[in-house]
Amino acid sequence: MKDEGCFFVFCIRFAPLLYVVFLVLVILGFVLQFNPLLRVAAPGPASVSGRRIVIDAGHGGRDPGAVGRTGLQEKVITLDIARRLKRLFSRVGVYVVMTREADIDYSDVAEGNPVPGELTQKRRDLLHRIRMVNQSKADLLLSIHVNSFPQSIWSGAQCFYDLRYPASKAAARCIQEQLVEKLGPNRRKALAADYMLLKSTDLPSVTVEVGFISNPREEQLLATAEYRERLAEAIFLGTIIYLAEEEGENRAAPVSNLTGKVYPELPPPPVAPGFARLFFTSPYSEDLNLYFEERDLGLTPKDSVLMKAERLLGELQRGPGENSALLPCLPPGKWVTKISLRGKQAIIDVKPELATAVNGGVAAELLGLYSIVNTLAFNLELEAVTVLIDGQKGYSLGGHILLDEPVPPREDLIHQTK
Ligand SMILES: [Zn+2]
Repeated sequence: MKDEGCFFVFCIRFAPLLYVVFLVLVILGFVLQFNPLLRVAAPGPASVSGRRIVIDAGHGGRDPGAVGRTGLQEKVITLDIARRLKRLFSRVGVYVVMTREADIDYSDVAEGNPVPGELTQKRRDLLHRIRMVNQSKADLLLSIHVNSFPQSIWSGAQCFYDLRYPASKAAARCIQEQLVEKLGPNRRKALAADYMLLKSTDLPSVTVEVGFISNPREEQLLATAEYRERLAEAIFLGTIIYLAEEEGENRAAPVSNLTGKVYPELPPPPVAPGFARLFFTSPYSEDLNLYFEERDLGLTPKDSVLMKAERLLGELQRGPGENSALLPCLPPGKWVTKISLRGKQAIIDVKPELATAVNGGVAAELLGLYSIVNTLAFNLELEAVTVLIDGQKGYSLGGHILLDEPVPPREDLIHQTK
């Protein structure tokens, strides 16, 4: 009885002190719980907990992706960053689905085209990943890649989004902003791209190209764990900001009325008679841009569209002129085997070697594809170009952009001189 009374008196006397101790413990708990990263982000983690994302570490197993001068492989970098992202997201209660957690590919797992060969293996792997992503019922897909381009001067991380979902663009912009802020200087902006995985899955999605493995300085950075952690933190923060912002708005829905033209129509060609505009790129391009070179091809109004198309592709395969400051977007040589026309569309067939010659990264692939499409569409007033590889639909020039339907030209990729 005496002891109980003592305890009661003790509690009364030290109640304010106990209250202070309790408060200190609560504050300490908060500080330990949320690491400094989260205190920088405006939105609180409570608003994102319970959300679900898929992280796809680009390439893997038999497919190394782009390879740097030192032999550093894209698949190693993407897997490492994906694992780091999983750790960061799990801390704030975001549920993460990984398409791969080890150095593997799924070319043996998925059913697909029975024709053997590298492209088919890549396609089987892709089909399996698409299935995994679609079954995940996630709010967002983050696909991690490393960029590459023949010109080693190019550098900087860049996000690409799937145009079908406005949420993809919003997420890509948030992530790009953080990548620039945390890892700059970098003047790249989030850009639309028809990535195979992005286009084939039914959720908002972003591909993050974390840097150029073809740039020696960036390759050196990408080889270090410290830089990869900084990349993961920037991607994580951008995604958290996007998820928190989106939480208040309507849930992402596909734009069902985007059946018309997504890109603005190209203006009629104001080129001199007989001349044509050939699209290449520039060694100093700060973003992924096409630049044109005007060349006298001696074209006459009597020439058929098919003949003109053949001439244009011939010139494109020859590359920029002798004194030109521009760079080709595709390897030299004759890679077009067949051209045909159907109304306002062209169908071209290219050698399968072209698909392996386009080196790994999406920069080379995007510019290569649109140098063909824009050159034909702009000069011949076509609406779209279908690219077949060895007579087949649905392949890709380098494993990123799906060629399963006619590709309309993109004016937004053309460098604006202003
Ligand atoms: Zn890649």
